[in-house]
Order: sequence, then structure tokens, then C-alpha cells
Amino acid sequence: MSGGICKFLKRVMSTASSNSNLVENLSSVKDRVASSAAKRTSKDNLTLLPRLVCVGKTKPASDIQLVYDAGQRHFGENYVNEIVEKSHDLQETCPDIKWHFIGRLQSNKVGKLLGCPNLSLIETIDSEKLADRVDKLWVSSERYSGTPLNVMVQINTSNEEQKSGVSTEKALDLVEHVMVKCENLHFTGVMTIGSFSHDYSTGPNPDFLTLLQCKEKVMEKFSLSSDDVEVSMGMSNDFEHAIELGSTNVRVGSTIFGAREYASKPS
Ligand SMILES: *Cc1c(COP(=O)(O)O)cnc(C)c1O
Repeated sequence: MSGGICKFLKRVMSTASSNSNLVENLSSVKDRVASSAAKRTSKDNLTLLPRLVCVGKTKPASDIQLVYDAGQRHFGENYVNEIVEKSHDLQETCPDIKWHFIGRLQSNKVGKLLGCPNLSLIETIDSEKLADRVDKLWVSSERYSGTPLNVMVQINTSNEEQKSGVSTEKALDLVEHVMVKCENLHFTGVMTIGSFSHDYSTGPNPDFLTLLQCKEKVMEKFSLSSDDVEVSMGMSNDFEHAIELGSTNVRVGSTIFGAREYASKPS
């Protein structure tokens, strides 16, 4: 058997075996989200319940359909081609789905992304140039219905070169730019990925604390209340911790959909 077919079968089989668990995984993550929310230490009097975003990157649309059918509505993707394909495939069968784009966005892909049905939020605006491009293309997009598009500003809290996001120093200026100069965008909050190497036995994740400080500064500068500035942080390995600190939007992939297998390109 060729290596390509082997890989293909392995993928089909791993998908088939995990399907029955997806709904159980969803329900257990939802329970964990709720109990972490009950333990929140944030003094902001957060009334928002944290939102769970299920990240289905590399997983088939059929997996997303199963999780949608179990009641989940918010889904995240971080490759433009994948969100375009899945959002079209699921347009009829998931009419209330809310797509979050959470990946690095190149200027030349903005038009393609804005063509997605049910695009709810772009979490990864990280430069004025990108904000301007999304702002400009959104009004001329076939999906534009007269309402501004929800966006978050992604902040590179760990200052790692390979991570995208605006620097913490420039974050406030970018938020101001989105709010003041981009009339077709609606700023909803701040987002970070953060360093993957934090040792939780040493205390709170410093990236999360940095993002929360950015949130405070945004609230102060623009006289916004806590619920007006969402905080997107926390993934499979740390979403409970993130929620306890004040995350309002956690992005959970592998704990729901299973480990990702990156198939090599067909030869
Ligand atoms: C893949 C991804 C996630 C989900 O990661 P898991 O560790 O599988 O939960 C969350 N956020 C971003 C930006 C991602 O790319």
C-alpha cells in the first residue's frame, strides 16, 4: 500500500473512532467552563459567562456538524482556506453557526475570508494596515448587511518573534485606530495566544496577566465597562486557568475534537 493511502486510512479510522466521543467531550468541557466561571477571582464583577469556541482546524466538517447538533454555536478556524470551505459546506445544515477566525490573516486573503457565510468575529487584527483593509473590504463584500464586523485586537503578550499580534506598547494605539478610524469594524476585545511553556505550578500565566492589563488600559482610556471589552485567552491545556483569571472567550480544539494529525501533502 502506498504511504499516501496508509495515511488516508489512518485519518479516516481515527476520525471514525473519535466521533462517538465528540458530544461527550463537548459536554465535559462545558461543565469545566461553568465550574471555572464559578471560581472567578477577577474583581471586575464580570457578568458575562465565558464563551466556548470550538476549534476544528484540520478536522472534517462532519465533526463540526456533530458538535453543532449537540447545541454548540461558536466555532473557530485558523486557516483561511479551511474556514471558507467549511463555512460554505455547513451553510445549510448549520444556519445559526458563528464562525471565529483565529489565525494569522494575510492582507491578500481578507477578501476570501469576508466571503464566508456566518463570519461572526475576526480575533486576529494585529496592524493598522490589516484593520484598514478589513474595514474597506467589508462594506463592499457581498455579505455586508449594514452592520460593522466584530473584531478583536491580537496582542503578542509573550513578545515571541514567531507569534503574531501587535506589541503591548502599540496595542492601545491599534485599539484606538480600530475604534476611531474604522467605521465598519466593531471592536469587541483583546486576544492572545501566549507562550506555550508556562509552568502553572509557579503561579498565574504572565501572558494572561499582561492581556488583562491591556484590557484595563482599554477600559480606562475609552471609559468602557468590563463587559464591553472581551478577553480571548485559554486553549485546551489552560482554559480553566484563563477563565478563573477573567477570560470571556476560550478557544478549545483538541480536547473536543481529538489530537490533530497534519497529513503530508499528497505526492
Ligand atoms: C489551534 C488553536 C487553538 C486550539 O488549540 P488546542 O490546544 O487544540 O485547544 C486555540 N487558539 C488558536 C489561535 C489556535 O490556533
